[in-house]
Amino acid sequence: MCHRGPRRYKLLMKTTTLKQIAIFVWLIFLLAFVSCQSTSSLVPPASGAASPTTTIAALSPIPTVALSTPTTVVTATPTVVSSTPVPPSTPDETNTVREVTVLYTNDEHGWMEGMDRDNGAANLLSLWREVEGYTEDGPFLILSGGDMWTGPAISTWFEGESMVEVMNALGYDAAAVGNHEFDFGLEALRRRANEAAFPILSANTRYRANGQAITNLGVMPYTIIEVNGLKIGLIGLTTTSTPQTTNPVNVTELQFIAYETALRQIVPEVKAANVDLIFVPGHVCLHELELLAEAIDDLGIAMLGGGHCNELVAQEVNGIVILEGGFHLTAYARATFRYDTAADELMGVDYGVGFNEGGMADLGIDTIITRWQAEAENELNLVIGYTDQEIPHRSQALQAMVVKAWLAGYPSADVAITNLGGLRAPIPPGEITLGDIVGVMPFDNTIIEVQLTGAQLMKVIVAGGRPVIGGMTQKGGSWTLDKTGRPVDPEARYSVLVNSFMYAGGDNYGLLAEFDPAGYDTGIHYRQPLIDWLVAQGSSPDKPLVVTN
Ligand SMILES: [Zn+2]
Repeated sequence: MCHRGPRRYKLLMKTTTLKQIAIFVWLIFLLAFVSCQSTSSLVPPASGAASPTTTIAALSPIPTVALSTPTTVVTATPTVVSSTPVPPSTPDETNTVREVTVLYTNDEHGWMEGMDRDNGAANLLSLWREVEGYTEDGPFLILSGGDMWTGPAISTWFEGESMVEVMNALGYDAAAVGNHEFDFGLEALRRRANEAAFPILSANTRYRANGQAITNLGVMPYTIIEVNGLKIGLIGLTTTSTPQTTNPVNVTELQFIAYETALRQIVPEVKAANVDLIFVPGHVCLHELELLAEAIDDLGIAMLGGGHCNELVAQEVNGIVILEGGFHLTAYARATFRYDTAADELMGVDYGVGFNEGGMADLGIDTIITRWQAEAENELNLVIGYTDQEIPHRSQALQAMVVKAWLAGYPSADVAITNLGGLRAPIPPGEITLGDIVGVMPFDNTIIEVQLTGAQLMKVIVAGGRPVIGGMTQKGGSWTLDKTGRPVDPEARYSVLVNSFMYAGGDNYGLLAEFDPAGYDTGIHYRQPLIDWLVAQGSSPDKPLVVTN
């Protein structure tokens, strides 16, 4: 009865008077509430609630995609590795042997500004010019393996519009659809695809109802592009884990069919256009690409590109070059293909990886980023607190703050659980801005209230991926409810707050909707209580935020 569909609840200070009144009321309310809480009510580590390590959990939301401290698997040295010796072009061959160089990135996650100084999008373009000899009209293809947008506020706050503009200026030729391309809903994906000067590709994303490609959203299964006299077919792939790794509500209409099935359907269509080479930019992890390379060597695909697992890869499997460019524009992979158009034959491939280091900032890209920074600052620069120390990404302190804030903002609830994967950045020392909090919690999730028995609650925290738990404390082997100081009763019913990503089954939280199909969408954005809580603390340089675990 109380269930409502998910709603957008972007509570920034866009509205003025009403918002200010609301904040004032919240503030009074929160101060009253917080003053009744002892500091010991801060949430303890959820150490006893370790999630099972399954394949899904490993792939699920923001697995290795920790925005501040990413884990990278480097499977190639940062030097160019030559696999097949490439015969030098002789004067006779210059008319028929053509080359094309692929520059490949993936999991950019909106990091146009760079994770450190001098490793943003503006530096990468200059580096490509200097190191790879890249020119806009040269024999180059710039490809992305997807997950382009969700990340820091400068991209997330604009649902990726800013990042599309930067990628347009970088000269991307095509991109695969990543799971996070669905984070802002299908309509936002359609708008981004429309704005992109390059095709956005997925051959295995289909409507569940009729098996059709999602071309009405501007996503094509493949495209054909001509570079340096070579006709090249580009086919996109999207991770089949997408329903577990974006908000599942956004993709209920869609299915993500097996990679090989999709390629066997699409490749003949591409070949019918008489292409010279077929490249597959995909949002797919290395272990899956290796299996795929073994299975599809009859299709004549020259390159499989990956993404999603933040791996940096340049290697050859079963005669197919596999490229992955790391993450957040900190690195890239490259491969140069030499093709004899007279013999219709691939003569050789050089491949390797490189790091985004040492490039001067390109002025054109820098100007675009500076403009978006200003736009973002307008909205996001509002100072809502002050901390004299960094609150590290995924630290116990940050986790505790989030779930404590939920319970403070929704005091009728007993327990709050959010998934660690939904926390994406640290809070840096100094003034805390709205933008910092958008960076910490960049997704469009709302808070859902479910009613669970104690026994169900225990099952949820065991099955779900990396739960961050507030409102109950683990002592020895058992859990005590903070509100009552009593052990959690398997028979009793509790009001539990979760986020909409989890309620929709993301990160192995499918039990939530199973146990309570009538979960109540509070309509409160999952980051809003943290913003309200921080405002209520009234911290300043004279009175920095008190950070406790
Ligand atoms: Zn991904």
